Amino acid sequence: MNIPQLIQHQRKFFTSQQTKDVAFRKNILKRLLKELIKREREIIKALYNDFKKPEYEAVMTEISIVISELRMTIKNIHSWSKPKRVLPSILNFPSSAKIYKEPYGTVLIIAPWNYPYQLAFSPLIGAIAAGNTIIVKPSELTPNTSKITKEIIENVFDINHVTVVEGGVPVAQELLAQRWDYIFFTGSVPVGKIVAKAAAEHLTPVTLELGGKSPCIVDDTANIKLAAKRIVWGKFINGGQTCIAPDYLLIHKTVKDSFVRYFKEEISKAYGDNPSESLDYPRIVNARNFDRLAKMLTNEKVLIGGETNKDSNYISPTLLDEPSLDSECMKGEIFGPIFPVISYENENDIEKITSNYDKPLALYVFTNRNSFAKKIIKRYSFGGGTVNDTTVHFANNRLPFGGVGESGIGGYHGKQTFDTFSHKKGIVTRGTWLDIPTRYAPYKGKLKQLKALMKLG
Ligand code: NAD
Repeated sequence: MNIPQLIQHQRKFFTSQQTKDVAFRKNILKRLLKELIKREREIIKALYNDFKKPEYEAVMTEISIVISELRMTIKNIHSWSKPKRVLPSILNFPSSAKIYKEPYGTVLIIAPWNYPYQLAFSPLIGAIAAGNTIIVKPSELTPNTSKITKEIIENVFDINHVTVVEGGVPVAQELLAQRWDYIFFTGSVPVGKIVAKAAAEHLTPVTLELGGKSPCIVDDTANIKLAAKRIVWGKFINGGQTCIAPDYLLIHKTVKDSFVRYFKEEISKAYGDNPSESLDYPRIVNARNFDRLAKMLTNEKVLIGGETNKDSNYISPTLLDEPSLDSECMKGEIFGPIFPVISYENENDIEKITSNYDKPLALYVFTNRNSFAKKIIKRYSFGGGTVNDTTVHFANNRLPFGGVGESGIGGYHGKQTFDTFSHKKGIVTRGTWLDIPTRYAPYKGKLKQLKALMKLG
């Protein structure tokens, strides 16, 4: 079946009403849960084969997140999909008012390679729960995970309900050329713009989960040892290839030296003296990304690391000292295990640096001054963040996750994923036992009455 035919069949399936039934959706999600649990080992193996993702990280950052989303969704699907009563307007008296949630229809989900399992399944779970039919396109850069994603979906779903279309850019382009009822894209800013343009052609609503240059600020009151430990974890997990990884460090100049010392210690504790031998340290996904990252190391002062091996796409955890803003590593999102450190003297210096970039996906601030953390949160616009840690806001599915400005449009996780894939339909039901005459023509002599009513409403 070619892509237009697949979409046509999915539309038919959608209009057949099956997915409108919440019990049907819940049952199929339960079957998906069973399948995912059964195939855990194969998923771990696929992630390892794709970019040497350690088993522990696969469980922590992919498998457990998907299972938790799925369990939460199964538990709450009935209450999330029920119409919600809201207060009626006095202007409509007598009436009741409700918000109905309906699925959009046939949905496209395009996933990136960096958390290839989690970032395909997390939106998918919400899209299924909301009652859509779905085509998922995993990333071609992680072929093993793409393959197992396809197998899992084929085992659980009717092809007309949910299906996986594998392939690279030409396939993505062909998919984007079709008419969809919703597009959910996770990936880079430039491709996000291509998706937005394609969606605009049919006025298709979109969620864009993109990237950006996420700053990490450490002030002079922070617990420096703990900050170093938590930043090493958040920066180098997944080999630094995380959309919300701290991208660059802004540190108060009085604590920089001790931070660098602790940072070095923490890298050794986590990955040993030679991280290339550590089973817990992943590789760069491909040669293109390796070359892009390796270029950032030339002409920079390396404080820690800087070792590379082109044959195995290895780049050691690296700290760069005070790069200029026009250096390679400060031009755009790094998306790898390279961390530039820039010291500041006062809060104006922070603004001078951050104002060079668009609104980032995340921001981290390490401080013991509550007032400083609050000031930063209020002052800067960014997707989301953490005070005194890195990336962990992602793990709470009661918080919305998404960007703002160039880092994205829309948010998801937990109930918000269900809402993302649902159109909200407002319905007023009028009583028939009373019909206030004010609104009807002729209007002569009724204006005062109307104004009085408007004040109430
Ligand atoms: P990417 O944009 O290159 O690719 C993402 C998807 O788009 C892939 O499935 C790919 O096949 C497809 N694609 C690539 N080029 C295309 C084109 N010209 N036309 C249509 N489709 C195309 O991104 P990536 O390298 O897979 O992922 C890294 C980027 O994703 C980083 O910028 C990172 O910050 C971002 N990201 C964001 C989030 C988030 O949740 N906000 C999560 C992970 C990654």
